[in-house]
Amino acid sequence: MLSFFTATATNAQNFVPPTQLHLTYPPLQHTTTSDRLFFIGTAPKDGQVSINGKVVSRTTAGHFAPSLPLQIGENIFQIKYSNPTSDRNSDKEITVKVVRESRITLPPKGIGFIENSLFPVVNIAKQPNERICFEAIATPNAKVLARIGDLEIPLLPRRRNIQLPPNSSVLTGNNEAIAESPSGYFRGCATFETPSQLGQPEYEMRLGDRLVKQKAQGSVEILSPKKLQIAEVTATADARTGASTDFSRITPLPQGVKALVTGKQGEWLRLDYGGWVRERFVKVSDTDTQPRSLVRGISTRTVIDKVDPHNIWTEIVIPLECNVPISISQSDRTFTLTLYNVTAQTDTIAIVPESIINKVEWLQSDSDKVTYTISLKPKQQWGYKVRYQGTNLIVSLKHPPVLSTANREIQPLNGLKILLDAGHGGNEDLGSRGPTGYPEKDVTLIVSKLLREELQNRGAKVVMTRTDDIDLDLAPRIAKIEQEEPAISVSLHYNALPDNGDAMNTSGIGTFWYNPQSQDLAKFIHNYVAQKLQRREYGVYWNNLALVRSTVTPAVLLELGFMINPDEFEWIIEPQQQKLLAKTLADGITEWMMNAAN
Ligand SMILES: [Zn+2]
Repeated sequence: MLSFFTATATNAQNFVPPTQLHLTYPPLQHTTTSDRLFFIGTAPKDGQVSINGKVVSRTTAGHFAPSLPLQIGENIFQIKYSNPTSDRNSDKEITVKVVRESRITLPPKGIGFIENSLFPVVNIAKQPNERICFEAIATPNAKVLARIGDLEIPLLPRRRNIQLPPNSSVLTGNNEAIAESPSGYFRGCATFETPSQLGQPEYEMRLGDRLVKQKAQGSVEILSPKKLQIAEVTATADARTGASTDFSRITPLPQGVKALVTGKQGEWLRLDYGGWVRERFVKVSDTDTQPRSLVRGISTRTVIDKVDPHNIWTEIVIPLECNVPISISQSDRTFTLTLYNVTAQTDTIAIVPESIINKVEWLQSDSDKVTYTISLKPKQQWGYKVRYQGTNLIVSLKHPPVLSTANREIQPLNGLKILLDAGHGGNEDLGSRGPTGYPEKDVTLIVSKLLREELQNRGAKVVMTRTDDIDLDLAPRIAKIEQEEPAISVSLHYNALPDNGDAMNTSGIGTFWYNPQSQDLAKFIHNYVAQKLQRREYGVYWNNLALVRSTVTPAVLLELGFMINPDEFEWIIEPQQQKLLAKTLADGITEWMMNAAN
């Protein structure tokens, strides 16, 4: 599953199917903002399961997964199993308390402000004349203003607020913006010309003869164009479109990149090219100039990988005066590299014939930015790496794997390195769980091992991130992919849904990819498994998941079915079906590889 909910640890290593009423989800005390919630569980086939007195439908195996509506506030659910025909006293009851919270912050009940609603919550720094909007949630109908420096900024009530759905709404089919009329939301904007430390804004609200004053937690600074600060990236830095992890990732900045700091928000710095990075990934120092560079000739070379001589790379070498920020995008047969804070003097480009590059075109699209569009010979891209060596930018593009022609009929994947990553593991990370409580981590390991065997039989060299029931974070899994640089990387998972999903009626295989080089593999395996095994399709999704972000290889994450769907769960745990699935996956991978690598 993706990270919708954190599974609570049970003694899954001694897993026994429940012999009485068992509730997998939700936990006995649960808090959510969803307007409905599914109940996943099982009970002996004979007899009845009811929730708050209403009998729920169950599969022939006895599993249930109904979705029930939630009121704002506390909801109590009595889940009851009874078997009138049994003379044993088998009745069992489970009580669940679910608190549904409002998605939006409600205004204070008394007179005053909502703590943490006063902007800014953390210290911020902006350029002179950048617009800054001050916001507060206060008692409706009050008169609200913010005082900062020598300015008094009136805040007006917002009549309409558009509430964006969370990203996960894409997966439950409720992806629409909702217009709400919140009461108590106030906003007013201003600009500041003079560089200075303005301190914390003080908010003031009047209602009748009552006056309440409160300072925001963060302060506002206007940066001086005369006192420049430079940030140098000390370890590959995640860059984002804004100052929190809620904002999208953009191309990570390689170690050594230098750029001016143009804004600050809490622990985040905005760099001159537009991206935001965390303070801890950079070293900040004073400077008197912006780091800029000319770009002249570009050369290429091919290198054989020192770690794995099977891997050959085309390297593009771009000498620069300093390590400027970059971004990368890929599409069919093109690899596009953008350099910021540069001016092109590019007149000569050399492409070695044994490289995978067809041609390089460039464009100075504005005074600060040059884009190099690299057309490639192979129809499939197999991975890339970017680094600074001194002030030379080196971009490495992986060549297609060479499939051995020997023994091709029996071992078509001869010599090819494939990485398999069995999702979750250990006592802390069970993944999602089926109606009986059976954990995702067990079935991902079983199917990964079956798939390993199938791929090895076809000649592949298979590397696994785990072969036992161990705790394994995302970081070591990603490190393994980066270190092994396999021909492809496949992560195996089984799915669940956010609280507002429909567990009874959602099923099928889902496939996730991130870098465009992985899309064709994702689509092919997805369609192959769905067609050959006649499985329903949940869909192929672009998704920013850690295990598919690595750039050194095409990487896909498969969600091979829904643990929480009572019918699909039976298919998921059936040993014969697991074998058939592993064989089908291996056939699909082989067919894609034979086609893509040639
Ligand atoms: Zn999972």
